[in-house]
Amino acid sequence: MSKRIAIVGGGYIGAELAKSLDDTADVTLIEPRSHFVHAPATIRAVVDPSLLDRALIPYDRLLKNGRVLHARASGIDANGVTLDDGQRVEADYIVVATGSSNAKPFEPVGSDIEGLRQANRRIYDQLKAARRIGIVGAGAVGTELAGEIAHAMPNKEITLISDTARLFPTMPEKLGTALAKKLRDAGVTLILGKRAENLQSTTEPYAGRLTLSDGAEQDFDLIFPALGSRASSELIDGLPGAQKSTANRIKVDPWLRPSSLPNVFAAGDLADAGDGMTIVATSRQMPWLKTMLKGLLAGKSPEEMKPYKPWGPKAPILVPLGPKRGNSFLGLFTAGDLLTRKMKGEDLFVKKYNKLLN
Ligand SMILES: Cc1cc2nc3c(=O)[nH]c(=O)nc-3n(C[C@H](O)[C@H](O)[C@H](O)COP(=O)(O)OP(=O)(O)OC[C@H]3O[C@@H](n4cnc5c(N)ncnc54)[C@H](O)[C@@H]3O)c2cc1C
Repeated sequence: MSKRIAIVGGGYIGAELAKSLDDTADVTLIEPRSHFVHAPATIRAVVDPSLLDRALIPYDRLLKNGRVLHARASGIDANGVTLDDGQRVEADYIVVATGSSNAKPFEPVGSDIEGLRQANRRIYDQLKAARRIGIVGAGAVGTELAGEIAHAMPNKEITLISDTARLFPTMPEKLGTALAKKLRDAGVTLILGKRAENLQSTTEPYAGRLTLSDGAEQDFDLIFPALGSRASSELIDGLPGAQKSTANRIKVDPWLRPSSLPNVFAAGDLADAGDGMTIVATSRQMPWLKTMLKGLLAGKSPEEMKPYKPWGPKAPILVPLGPKRGNSFLGLFTAGDLLTRKMKGEDLFVKKYNKLLN
């Protein structure tokens, strides 16, 4: 009888891992959403709602042999997963990849795909009617959003606010400098090194007045909170030996195990494996997990296999500012408009993930 692998969460780690093991093991993917959510495209969908249809991809063709169970996992133990309706999925190995949550309209609340469509529509209408747009948080999401709005709706007054003194402060300086220049050229006002002190919502856009840490006040017709993701780690919290790191993430050992249970693994945004909370990180972890699980299926123990090695400071990042412009750090050098456009800006990997989901 083939070994049973339960994968909890069908995001970038879970969906691709499930597909890659579908021929080798008895795979059950536990994922409450009806559709895979391709996150990078939800940013451009704020200015082009028609993109959302291709960014929300149904799971029904993902697996040929295994099954996708549309349910929420509520508990994990050494023998399997308990679902919130009480049903059990017994498993020899369990991979938890429950990811993280982010603000509207970038992520569904729980499994509510229809709610995401509605939020996208509503916020698009608010954006069209708005003149002054504030974006709080200049990570990849806030920066890309400023670029997308400036490109698609050049008549808006956009202000991007960050408490860091420059954009992408942990990356080579050239990346942040080049992006800042392009945003300013496109008419975006950057307020750097200041905090917004009175955000009324961290989960959805609203109209209001922002007070900055230097006492300045500004009114906006629409304020987008873009403060980063928080890991969804409830399932792991109670496991023996599990420990939190930052952003609600869970620490893992060099074989991506979050607890003392030797057959339970964690990856992606949920797991602090030394990588950022990015698809770039999942693209390194997923092949490692696949090789490791295949080794386990062949009778090896994790310790007999190479530990996972994170990207480290050379992790690439691609930051389009709309479909034409942007900058990227590609590990050895910083690239400009052409490479950023070709690698990500034009298509945002929409084709790739539609193909993955068959
Ligand atoms: C707007 C936006 C744009 C982004 N753009 C980029 C980008 O361009 N490049 C990049 O590298 N990164 C980007 N990221 C980051 C990237 O989306 C995440 O790093 C990635 O989604 C992490 O993948 P994951 O598999 O860990 O989790 P996720 O993709 O978050 O998937 C987790 C899945 O687990 C499911 N789940 C949660 N709880 C349970 C439960 N109890 N039981 C069962 N299932 C559960 C969820 O429904 C979800 O489908 C972006 C993020 C956002 C928000």
